[in-house]
Amino acid sequence: MQIKKALNSYVDAGYPIIYINSFEETKVDNIISSAMGGRKGLEWSGSQGFCDFKTKQNLIPGNGLAETLSLLCADNELERKFFVIKDAHLYFDDPKVITCLKSIALKISQGLDAVVIIVSSVLKFPKELEKFITILEMDYPTQDEIKDQIITFADEQGVTITDELLEDMSMYFKGLTEFEIENLLAAALADDGMFTRSDLKLIFDQKQQMIMKSGILEMIPLKERPEDIGGLENLKSWLERKSKVFKSINKAVEFGVNMPKGVLIAGVPGCGKSLCAKVTAQMFDVPLLRLDMGKIMGKYVGESEENMRKAIALAEAISPCILWIDELEKAFAGVNGTGNEVTVRLFGTFLTWMQEKSSSTFVVATANDITKLPPELMRKGRFDEIFYVGLPKPEERRKIFEIHIGKRRKQDLANIDISSLVSQTEGYSGADVEGVVIDAVESAFVDGSGALTTEHLNSAIKNTHSLSEIMKESLTNLSKEYENRHFKSASR
Ligand code: ATP
Repeated sequence: MQIKKALNSYVDAGYPIIYINSFEETKVDNIISSAMGGRKGLEWSGSQGFCDFKTKQNLIPGNGLAETLSLLCADNELERKFFVIKDAHLYFDDPKVITCLKSIALKISQGLDAVVIIVSSVLKFPKELEKFITILEMDYPTQDEIKDQIITFADEQGVTITDELLEDMSMYFKGLTEFEIENLLAAALADDGMFTRSDLKLIFDQKQQMIMKSGILEMIPLKERPEDIGGLENLKSWLERKSKVFKSINKAVEFGVNMPKGVLIAGVPGCGKSLCAKVTAQMFDVPLLRLDMGKIMGKYVGESEENMRKAIALAEAISPCILWIDELEKAFAGVNGTGNEVTVRLFGTFLTWMQEKSSSTFVVATANDITKLPPELMRKGRFDEIFYVGLPKPEERRKIFEIHIGKRRKQDLANIDISSLVSQTEGYSGADVEGVVIDAVESAFVDGSGALTTEHLNSAIKNTHSLSEIMKESLTNLSKEYENRHFKSASR
């Protein structure tokens, strides 16, 4: 386990305050115990007060965190001791807590042989303590560790599990903590007393919930298939090729193929960028995780970078997976020049990860306005390729009409004059075309004609203001920009 090693080396190096971000208190206690060596342990927690770390026996009843800290601070009580504080984030509004912690941290920096360890499920600390704090995240178990956990659990419960189910179950559990896995194993047994393939669905659904609760990543269900994309043939065949590599990644890497890193899909709104991100996960046959940049930005010092690191760690733990970063420009706009410090640091974390990434986490970043993105992001080595998605060409509009009519009124498709619709919709985005079909189908239902006709679609077109009508100037500028940069066109 990485965290054990990291904690030992931080303790040896004399780091004054170590912040362990986890809600698995028992597991963290074990890890801390193994790092203590011959030192004594003291603890303070909201529920227990000031107590002995090992026995949890109360030392001074009724003492709050501030009083305990001032006592330890004044009397040099901490020599050769670990002081573990649980739920500390709830008490950081008290200036006395901050002053005492700072003073203890200074003493440790000057040679006092002690360590303060904060254990909390929430990562939050005041700016005054920033330079004394080192953060440690609980690492996720590897697939082999998960297999061991499942086997131990099955043995304890006296049930068996086939090798095939063990393989699949351990894969499904990736990205969950030991504690969460334990709970899900118990739930999987609860219904029928054995492990069966039907438990995989339960695990998947619960995992979706747990990932959602992490607040920074969302697991998106895979509904879209490659046939749902009209046009964008270049992009589709590029993805197809990468999916072949991705699906046999071990063989490919052994052969000398580079690990696929990711793709940046930029261009006109409503033309299928998000659709492509979703389809990529389908093609690669892996889960799709969406990173919400809005949720990454936190209000406390270091919170945003930490959230970013957490999201990356979670995605890597779940890998193989697709990490979809939507509206990339919103996250990193202004890195050159007007960007604030947090955005610049966040960008740095992301870039380094993209550069050094060796896990099978394939990034699909989508962006509307690439001019707002920092140029470093577009240098070779970050993404495998950058594609430009423009307004659909006539042949692509034909396919988009067919797809969306086919989804709703397949039986009427043969009687519709698609060519006339195509010629009337120059400058329409894919979303505009979909909007026309939705409108027309509704009209056909409301007027009771019993079928969708070309006329319904014609009148819907007349009532639609296309994207190029609304954003004429900015679309022209955008396509010039993409041409100048020689990005690959997603369309053939
Ligand atoms: P934005 O930048 O505004 O998020 P986007 O480029 O990601 O836009 P999508 O969300 O993929 O666009 O497209 C919106 C909807 O329009 C899709 O759900 C889909 O139904 C339809 N659509 C767009 N382009 C296509 C296409 N090429 N083929 C089929 N449907 C399309």
